[in-house]
Amino acid sequence: MVCARGDSAWSARQWGAVEWGHAPEVALGAGVDLPLWIVVRAGLAVTVPRKGFVVEFDVVIAGAGPNGLMLAVELALGGVRPLVLERLSGASGEQRANGLVGQVVRMMDRRGLFERLAGTAGPPEPAPMFMFAAFPLNLAQLADNPVYGVLVPQRKVEQVLAERAAELGVQIRRGHALTGLSQKDDRVVVDVAGPDGVYQLEAAYLVGADGGRSMTRKLAGIEFPGVTNDHTVSRTAHVSVPGEFVNPASGGLRVPGYGDIPPFLHHRTERGILVWAPFPNGSPLLSVAEREAVDDASPLTIAEVRDAFRRVVGADVPFGPPAGDGPPLLRRLIGGNTRIADRYRAGRVLLVGDAAHVHSAIGGPGLNLGLQDAINLGWKLAAEVRGWAPDGLLDSFESERRPVALRVTMQTEAQSVLIGPGPQVTALRTLFGELLEDRGTVQRIADLISGADIRYDVGESAPPAGRWAPDLVLHTGSGPVRLAELTREARPLLIDLTADGGYGAIAAPWRDRVDVVTARSGDAGDAVTAMLVRPDGYVAWVADGDRPDGLPAALTRWFGTPALN
Ligand SMILES: Cc1cc2nc3c(=O)[nH]c(=O)nc-3n(C[C@H](O)[C@H](O)[C@H](O)COP(=O)(O)OP(=O)(O)OC[C@H]3O[C@@H](n4cnc5c(N)ncnc54)[C@H](O)[C@@H]3O)c2cc1C
Repeated sequence: MVCARGDSAWSARQWGAVEWGHAPEVALGAGVDLPLWIVVRAGLAVTVPRKGFVVEFDVVIAGAGPNGLMLAVELALGGVRPLVLERLSGASGEQRANGLVGQVVRMMDRRGLFERLAGTAGPPEPAPMFMFAAFPLNLAQLADNPVYGVLVPQRKVEQVLAERAAELGVQIRRGHALTGLSQKDDRVVVDVAGPDGVYQLEAAYLVGADGGRSMTRKLAGIEFPGVTNDHTVSRTAHVSVPGEFVNPASGGLRVPGYGDIPPFLHHRTERGILVWAPFPNGSPLLSVAEREAVDDASPLTIAEVRDAFRRVVGADVPFGPPAGDGPPLLRRLIGGNTRIADRYRAGRVLLVGDAAHVHSAIGGPGLNLGLQDAINLGWKLAAEVRGWAPDGLLDSFESERRPVALRVTMQTEAQSVLIGPGPQVTALRTLFGELLEDRGTVQRIADLISGADIRYDVGESAPPAGRWAPDLVLHTGSGPVRLAELTREARPLLIDLTADGGYGAIAAPWRDRVDVVTARSGDAGDAVTAMLVRPDGYVAWVADGDRPDGLPAALTRWFGTPALN
């Protein structure tokens, strides 16, 4: 806990670029009543500080985007008091993600947020189909399909998380921007510009969740190495098209002299790639990307989008302005960045989400990565603030999550190459397509894009230690319960599957911070007799009969020395 003084004046890449990511997000966001290629089951207590006030916060979070809000929720569940600063006073109106894809969907279920996001009761179901580099992946053939998805626009994700944060008493100050910081031995001093002027705050920790251009990152002196791609332009627009250009059965685009372009799928030619997304309740969205020098000074027009379509497809369609009300999307993006912060922590300053990594949005991996950063950090930072974190716990945030960001940038870069123009890429695609005929390759790609292949270093323990805890159904004295229903409060959980509850007794000294459930499980595997699950949903330790004595060491490693003896 920090005592603040408040004594001063109050102070995409493309072929990969962001826009390419629009294609899968479009597909995800298309609504369940369309003939989709993917089917998924898918209060603010604002205080206005004035000069002379003393403010105390455990953690200040810069940025109320999805990742800052998620972190605020996790910290509040962990029993610490975050303050969220958001530069904007209202909604940005920017259209970004239309869906969540991957392990994060199951994580939302584990926090009791799936239903609020999806609008349907859980548990989530995996998607039978998804895209990788404009290749359709038949996921229904997999015995273990990890690709979960939810159709939900990013603004709704932010709204749900803001509501949850408010329920937990988190304070969010909108219209308050972080403008400076300085670190002391025991705290961070944060300069803020708010509607009533500038002021200072002090907190034990500052987390930058302030997006790809993160001021926190820059002020903390954290480098952001990577590459900038500036030779691809993508254009996205709401359009209209005469009825004879639409296939009434599929909703696809009928292109004279070319053929049908299916809806909601990446469509690659040797000159570029496009997505045609005829939304049921609104104007169709067309996204076209190509490599081309372009003058970015003038605003994008429908005529320019039509010209780009003609170049990429080699045929003309008379696209016009969209019908109906509402501001149409008309967006041109040039180039993009693939960058990862060289460290996620500088003293008492940490980074999550886009502040720590930016990459192509192809396949929609951004929120799967960023929200799980926040969930990985939340319980560790809460433990640090509350004083029970074992040595090295907070640093394991970077050692666990930075490699995950490297995997995401690897796969989005690979996809960006595979959807690029030219005959050599066509040859590469032919080979890659043959490899995808092998079910094992599809499983591998599915694990990669969902994040199901993550294995954290948790020391010696039997599988699934280090991995995502399986979605077990546990048979307790009060009936069956899903693991996801026992993790809503973000507390560590020991599942004791022995008849005598012996492991639960070993964990008794940690009961202030570790929950214990004694149960039978039909799906944990006969060998597994106990499992310790971290608050972020990963298995810290497993008893498989061979190593029955490891529990105290695992509890101490992750949850510190016991408070109760
Ligand atoms: C076109 C597009 C499509 C995308 N599609 C997908 C998709 O389909 N699926 C997916 O998972 N991801 C997608 N993404 C990526 C996803 O949108 C980002 O990963 C996500 O927004 C990152 O969240 P964040 O909270 O880290 O940062 P942001 O969402 O950028 O939020 C940062 C917040 O910090 C605030 N802020 C900035 N500076 C300050 C300051 N100094 N002080 C206080 N507040 C500050 C900003 O106003 C903002 O509200 C897409 C992105 C784009 C651009």
